[in-house]
Amino acid sequence: MSDLIEVRGLTKSFGDQQVLKGVDFTVAAGTVTVLLGPSGSGKTTVLRSMNVLETPDAGLVRIGDAAIDFSSRPDRRAVKALRARSGMVFQAHNLFPHKTVLGNLIEGPVQVQKRPVDEAVADARALLEQVGLAGRQDAYPSQLSGGQQQRVGIARALALEPEVLLLDEPTSALDPELVGEVLAVIRDLAAQNWTLVIVTHEVRFAQHVADQVLFLDEGVIAERGGAEVLANPREERTRRFLARVL
Ligand code: ADP
Repeated sequence: MSDLIEVRGLTKSFGDQQVLKGVDFTVAAGTVTVLLGPSGSGKTTVLRSMNVLETPDAGLVRIGDAAIDFSSRPDRRAVKALRARSGMVFQAHNLFPHKTVLGNLIEGPVQVQKRPVDEAVADARALLEQVGLAGRQDAYPSQLSGGQQQRVGIARALALEPEVLLLDEPTSALDPELVGEVLAVIRDLAAQNWTLVIVTHEVRFAQHVADQVLFLDEGVIAERGGAEVLANPREERTRRFLARVL
């Protein structure tokens, strides 16, 4: 399997705090990578850097045939090209409150990608079915539960036809009873061979879906491996972290 994503030598400081100290990994197409680690270890910054929501100080990010070497200032066209390769799902879904579910789903495809409305609507309906919300297209976000809103958030990211889905703690803002339905949608995507990179504290979920686990600590990948790493960590700091969250 070829690598769809390549991240090399990623560094990032906020003020005098170096948050990423040289992060390297690759992701094969059709696989699930889970980023784990203590709060503040840099997981979100890695994910946001892949979508250029943060601009790294140095290092390379490649997704498919779009790449940026951040050692020089990236031009706007390169940023746009890299951004177009990934869809981002945030902790809070950020849906437009004044638009219906359907309106939220077709906004990007129609306004940004200039796709025909009827085509975007047909795709949006299929995506709603995929996330288990067929029939809710005319609802407003406030009429949906947090779990349903987050499922719309996932459908909205997919509507832009990205090559990769980046999910930043997609269940951490949800009431516990709503977590399962969102994880089930993510599990379905994994089964359909979507390429996913997920920041999550749901270690048991990670055990089920992860092809690759990256354990971040203080801005470096302290341990990596398959899902078995979670059961048998080699590094003391991974062990300590897992003992706390499991
Ligand atoms: P994690 O996702 O592992 O919790 P983050 O990547 O969110 O870690 O944050 C890593 C560190 O960078 C934290 O100390 C956080 O406070 C800091 N940080 C993140 N974003 C910013 C920002 N925009 N400005 C200043 N500091 C930030």
